[in-house]
Order: sequence, then C-alpha cells, then structure tokens
Amino acid sequence: MNRNNAKFLISSVSPTGFPNTKLPEVAFVGRSNVGKSSLINALLNRKALAKVGRTPGKTRTINFFDIDGKLQLVDLPGYGYASVSKDNKTKWADVIENYLSQRTQLELILLLIDIRHSPTKDDKMMIEWIREFHIPFIILATKSDKISKSRMHQHLKIIREELNLKDEEIISFSSSTKLGVKDVWRVFDGLMN
Ligand code: GDP
Repeated sequence: MNRNNAKFLISSVSPTGFPNTKLPEVAFVGRSNVGKSSLINALLNRKALAKVGRTPGKTRTINFFDIDGKLQLVDLPGYGYASVSKDNKTKWADVIENYLSQRTQLELILLLIDIRHSPTKDDKMMIEWIREFHIPFIILATKSDKISKSRMHQHLKIIREELNLKDEEIISFSSSTKLGVKDVWRVFDGLMN
C-alpha cells in the first residue's frame, strides 16, 4: 500500500453523506486539541491534509480520507471543548452515534489521549460508548515529546488504570518526533491482511 497516496474524500454529519464504499475503516476520536489533525497528517506524511488548529469545538463534521484505495481513515469531531452549549453537545453525540452504530466496515477506533493529562470525564464517557458498541479500539497517547522518557511509563500507567484497560494496546505518539508512526502502520497493515 502506498501510504503517501492519501486523499480527502468527503465531509458529512449523517449516514446519507457517508461514502458508499466497502473498504475497511479506522476512526480517530479524542478531545479537541488533543493533536488528532497533527497525528493524521504525520501518519500520512502530509502537512495539511487534516486541518490543524481549527477553532476548537467548531468542527462538527466527520471527515473521510482514502488511503491508496485500500483503507479509509475517518476523523470524528473532537469533544470536551468547555464553551460548547448543551445543544451542540447533543448534536455532537448524534453525529458520533450515527457513525458508530451504522458503519459496518468500521474495524478499529483510535482513541487519542494527551499523555500529559489524566483522562477526563469526557474521555471516560467516550470509551464506555465505544465498549457499548463492541468496537475494537486502541489508545494513542499523543504529544509524548512533551514529557521525558523516564516519566512516560508512569503516565501510561495512569491512562491504563483510569480507562480500565485490559489487553488493549497503548501506543505513545508524537507528531513532532514521529514516535509511534511505525507502530500505528503496523496495526493498519494487520487490519488489511
Ligand atoms: P486537534 O484539535 O485534536 O486536531 O489538534 P491539533 O492537531 O490541531 O493540535 C493542537 C495543538 O497541539 C496544535 O498547536 C499542535 O501544533 C499541537 N500538537 C499536536 N500534536 C503535537 C505533538 O505531537 N507534539 C507537540 N509538541 N505538539 C503537538
């Protein structure tokens, strides 16, 4: 698979607008500002395929990307932005639920957690939701360049405990140093074989 052959497909908030394809899909989700756009760009070796630093909480659409006609990556709207109204939170939940409940080709969710911080209430809610839908997931601990290597283990331990992880994998990631890029591609390659 040519990892550099990535293209943006479509944005949608409802199933009628989801691409009518059968390719395996991997979805990314996490708090606003967790580093999701940067991570998608780092994986695909692109500077601005996913938009970095948009106004937090403003992006409510699901964005689909095609990777070499073999895999689709899906950027789900971020959550947890303080000033979002209750009404908007409900809309966000509808958008996510539409996707999680109906997308049969969804094979894996990558839940992004900032390695520096203990998972929030919203992160815990998200993981419970993913569990309810019985969708396999792994955790990507983002911005891992921001802490020293010696503290990494302790931070991963807190994430594992707070999210009640069992055998699920945690990959330390950094869009700045590209740490974890190879590990994520190993997971994607595994999905396609
Ligand atoms: P999103 O809202 O989850 O899509 O987050 P963005 O990708 O837009 O990143 C939010 C902010 O964190 C931006 O200022 C990025 O430059 C910064 N950022 C993202 N990933 C990393 C990383 O791995 N290391 C560092 N040091 N900063 C990062």
